[in-house]
Amino acid sequence: MRVDKTEENVSKCICMYCPSYSQVCKLKNAPENVNQPTEKLANRTHYEKMFCAFEKSNCIHLDRGCLCGKCPVYQKYKLHRHEYCLKTGGLQ
Ligand code: SF4
Ligand code: SF4
Repeated sequence: MRVDKTEENVSKCICMYCPSYSQVCKLKNAPENVNQPTEKLANRTHYEKMFCAFEKSNCIHLDRGCLCGKCPVYQKYKLHRHEYCLKTGGLQ
């Protein structure tokens, strides 16, 4: 199911707590990741979190584990892949 690019969903994404989301990437993406209004999010293809709704990350390249399975967005949209930050559309 396609994940809606809404502020509500972004606020539930737990990527920022994930070990794969390195400190360097958090610092690098901080200005980019300030909360964006829904109308701006809806038009984006890239965003440095909620990768299940956008394309893969430009910064995360190492798999140190994935928290997606514990995320409310994952459950709400019945997702079944992982590591959406490493591959657009997620890994099987
Ligand atoms: S998509 Fe998965 S592996 Fe990537 S940052 Fe989010 S929770 Fe972590
Ligand atoms: S399923 Fe993964 S990528 Fe999608 S919102 Fe949740 S933690 Fe973020």
